[in-house]
Amino acid sequence: VPRTENVELPIIPTGYSRSRFNSAIEAIELLIGRQNVELNVKPLVDGWYLEHPNTHDAFHLVEQEELVSSATVYPASTEEVVHIVKWANQYEIPIYPISMGRNLGYGGAAPRVRGSVIVDLGKRMTKILDIDPDTCTCLLEPGVSFYALYEEIQSRGHKHLWIDVPDLGGGSVLGNTVDRGVGYTPYGNHYEAHSGMEVVLPTGEVIRTGMGALPGNNTWQIFPYGFGPYADGIFTQSNFGIVTKIGMTLMPNPGGSEGFMCTFKEEEDLAKIVEVIRPLRIRNILENVAQLKHVVQEVALLGKPRSHWYKGKGAVPLERLREIASTLPCGDCSWVYYGNVYGPKEHRDEKLKITREAFETVPGARWIPRESLPRDHYFFSRENIASGVPEFEELRWLNWHENGSHVFFSPVSAPRGEDALKLFNIAKKWHQECELDSFPACCVGLREMYFIVNMVYDRGDPVSKANAYRCMRGMIADAAAEGFGEYRTHLLLADQVAGTYSWNNNALMQFHNTIKDSLDPNGILAPGRNGIWPKKYRNKSWEL
Ligand code: ADP
Repeated sequence: VPRTENVELPIIPTGYSRSRFNSAIEAIELLIGRQNVELNVKPLVDGWYLEHPNTHDAFHLVEQEELVSSATVYPASTEEVVHIVKWANQYEIPIYPISMGRNLGYGGAAPRVRGSVIVDLGKRMTKILDIDPDTCTCLLEPGVSFYALYEEIQSRGHKHLWIDVPDLGGGSVLGNTVDRGVGYTPYGNHYEAHSGMEVVLPTGEVIRTGMGALPGNNTWQIFPYGFGPYADGIFTQSNFGIVTKIGMTLMPNPGGSEGFMCTFKEEEDLAKIVEVIRPLRIRNILENVAQLKHVVQEVALLGKPRSHWYKGKGAVPLERLREIASTLPCGDCSWVYYGNVYGPKEHRDEKLKITREAFETVPGARWIPRESLPRDHYFFSRENIASGVPEFEELRWLNWHENGSHVFFSPVSAPRGEDALKLFNIAKKWHQECELDSFPACCVGLREMYFIVNMVYDRGDPVSKANAYRCMRGMIADAAAEGFGEYRTHLLLADQVAGTYSWNNNALMQFHNTIKDSLDPNGILAPGRNGIWPKKYRNKSWEL
């Protein structure tokens, strides 16, 4: 039941006494200022992408009040983050850092442990600390969104500098990078594109990684490794530290950029198409994430509810989707490829020619000329994204359901036809079983393929929610049985996914536990994130 009224008392962590909580709040108010501490006593409003809550998961998969905070604190500096971390240790209260909390589809701003205090870094730590147009690098605080970085680069007149953006540009560059998110220019692997971090450890020490550890250096954003063990990886998809600064490399404009679109007729041709994509991508003829979307997304992107097109239960049948598609620019098809080529025109033309010839070896392939598309077509939004321009168009699908919400199933495979088919069939089976529409897309990073299934459900309907959760669990288990693992997952599915990475008696998780217990002896930082539970919580029925 949604919380629509103000409540007097916030939800506090299980086992925590109300009086201790009140003392803790008084203490943190003294440290960072009363105005920078907010109790979670207001109605829980899910809002939407631009007005997302920082108190709970806007796209709840379970009861809205399951994954909620007790309070939010807003630090303005690394020093204040240190104060907060030391305070959390003193009061043994769980804290959960977010940058902007727009991680929708993976848990949003929600903490894994109910009643945790959210450390919202995005509100006051919004500085772009440096943009170096010569080495094409920048240094950012957690509250810098893709939009803000883009606009700052434009306003400084650095026309030659691109940024890399994911599907939606409102999130934090740092937040996306520490969650190992991806974007769509050749710099789309954000973790690979970063150089240097500043991290507040769970006991309050501050470190700088890579060259940042060397006083007086000017190479922090240029050479990511520094000397000795390379630490950055352990601060991504983890709960080992709060990242307060990150360096990112920026792509210089390659001399031009241009989108292209090709459709493929039959659903069962998926394997053939992926076989065609693989060599093109690994040879770097296709230089950015190659994206093949199922035709259902062409229909959903029209922004109309599903009931407008189909009244039956379960997934909209392919025949119906193809019938609708036949009235759209994509025509009667099952898959749509959105791609991009880079460089001066003569280079682009050459790459387009090679790609077109390869794609047209798949029977029923149709190359759609860019010029034939209406200016408001989604194609131009994809073209912008692939050229580092932030966009919001992707949100149109949320109208598919009333209270439209989504959750991602994100397994990784080799870019092989047979693997794509296996994952497609697993997703199809579970979506049929759970009466949900499947929105699949194959995204080829380079040698890895992400078979992303974006499941859109109605968060106002408990049955739709329960089905979405059951569908996710089923797909994760079946994929693991075939040797596939997820690259990222929703907060509530992290235990299950972490459990699939179990080689040699869960040796990897035991290693993570050792690091966690050593860095965070009181277990205050984001307990349960990515399936890593501090000693105090471990094996006490927190794992799902
Ligand atoms: P975005 O707004 O870019 O989508 P979020 O702020 O939601 O990103 O971050 C995604 C997840 O990454 C968060 O839920 C949190 O677990 C983790 N995270 C974000 N920022 C930090 C940070 N500065 N330090 C440590 N972990 C972080």
